[in-house]
Amino acid sequence: MATYSIRTYGDPVLRQVAADVENIDGSVQRLIDDMVETMHEAPGVGLAATQVGVQKRIFVYDVGEGPSVVLNGRITESSGEWVYEEGCLSVPGLYWPIKRPNQVLLEGIDRDGNELKIEASELLGRVFQHETDHLDGILLIERLDPDQYKEAMKILRSRSLNPDQEKAKRKLLGRG
Ligand SMILES: [Zn+2]
Repeated sequence: MATYSIRTYGDPVLRQVAADVENIDGSVQRLIDDMVETMHEAPGVGLAATQVGVQKRIFVYDVGEGPSVVLNGRITESSGEWVYEEGCLSVPGLYWPIKRPNQVLLEGIDRDGNELKIEASELLGRVFQHETDHLDGILLIERLDPDQYKEAMKILRSRSLNPDQEKAKRKLLGRG
């Protein structure tokens, strides 16, 4: 097994919509194993294929009960409301309380091609929503309220400065 490097905010691949998996062949099985290893190493509770630069509708997750994978997963029902301090391996180090539906129904297939229907709420429900968003090219910052979004963009813009710009800016601000 091998690990991937995780793509971060600003990488255009994170904005692309992943294609359904038509054929679960050996390369897809290897990809799943490598994604699990990458998620565990990060560490994270979920990882979508787009985050490692692969445009396939696959995500892995592990909320403490061992790793699982869902292919061609889609949220088909949702209800309720839950605020949770949410982060993302592609937007490292930043967390925001985000309101989303609490209960969801996820439909997809497993790595053997069997149909899956999983009802989930709270953390697992949140992971399903977060990862299917990734596969639709949506990042968690798009789920922020307007004030959170402004704050997030300020931080992310300052991060995307190159080291020289960063130095110049620190000087300007008198922070050495
Ligand atoms: Zn994420």
